[in-house]
Amino acid sequence: MTLKNIFDTHCHYDDPAFDADREALLGSLFESGLAGAVHASTDVKSAEFGIENAKKFPNFYTSVGVHPENLESASENDLDRLRSLAAKNKKVVAVGEIGLDYHYDGFDRERQIFWFREQVKLANALGLPVIVHSRDASQDTLDVLKELRPMGILHCFSGSWETAKEALRLGLYIGFTGALTFKNARKAVEVAQNMPADRILFETDCPYMAPEPFRGRRSDSSMIPYVIERAAAIRGMDADELAAMSVENAKRVFGVGED
Ligand SMILES: [Zn+2]
Repeated sequence: MTLKNIFDTHCHYDDPAFDADREALLGSLFESGLAGAVHASTDVKSAEFGIENAKKFPNFYTSVGVHPENLESASENDLDRLRSLAAKNKKVVAVGEIGLDYHYDGFDRERQIFWFREQVKLANALGLPVIVHSRDASQDTLDVLKELRPMGILHCFSGSWETAKEALRLGLYIGFTGALTFKNARKAVEVAQNMPADRILFETDCPYMAPEPFRGRRSDSSMIPYVIERAAAIRGMDADELAAMSVENAKRVFGVGED
C-alpha cells in the first residue's frame, strides 16, 4: 500500500513532539505521495499553524476550531477570529476539532455544549463539515448533531455500534485511528465491520494513537496502512481497495480534489 492511497483526515503536527523534525517529516510524507492530510485545530493559535502549513504543502489542509479541552482560555472573540480565518482561506476545509469530553470532571459541561453548538453553527454558515471529538458524551453529542444537522466526521470513534448507526443515519462519516488495532478495541471493531465502506475514514490523531506494532510511540501518517490492513481484515476486504475508497471518502467529505 503506497501513501498515494492514504489520506490522514485528522493530525496534530503542531504538537511539540514534532518540533525537532516537523518540516523534514511532512516534506518526506508528501514527497512519498501522501494523498492528503487535514490538520485538526485545537485553538486559534493551532488554526493559524494549520493555515501557515497549508501554504507550504499543496495536499495539506486545515480545520479551524477550539477543542473542548481548551475552552478555559477561549473567548467569544475567538469565534469571530475563526470565522474570518475560514472565510479568507480556501484550504480551511472543516470546523474542528470540536465536541464534548466528559471523561474528566473538571470541564464545565454547559460551557462545552455552548461552544460545540456555536462552532457547529459556524460550520453550517460556512458550508463546511465538522470534525467531532466525543468522549463519554455520546448522547449529548448526538442531540446537538440531530438538532443542527451539520455534515462531518466523528473522529477516533470509540462509541457503540448503536451510536454509530445514528451518526450514519445523519449522513456523518466515521474516522478510525491506530486504536482500531489495540487488543481492547471491541466496540470500534464492531463498527468497522458493520458500517458502509463509503463512510470510512482513516486518521492518525498524531502524535497519539500509534497502531500496533508501534503502540505507545509517536505516530505519523506513514503508520496509517497498519490501521487500514486491520480494518480490511475485519471486513474481509482487500486492503488496497479499502484504502482507495477511504481517499475518495475523504475528498468527498472535505470537498477537495477532482470530485
Ligand atoms: Zn485530535
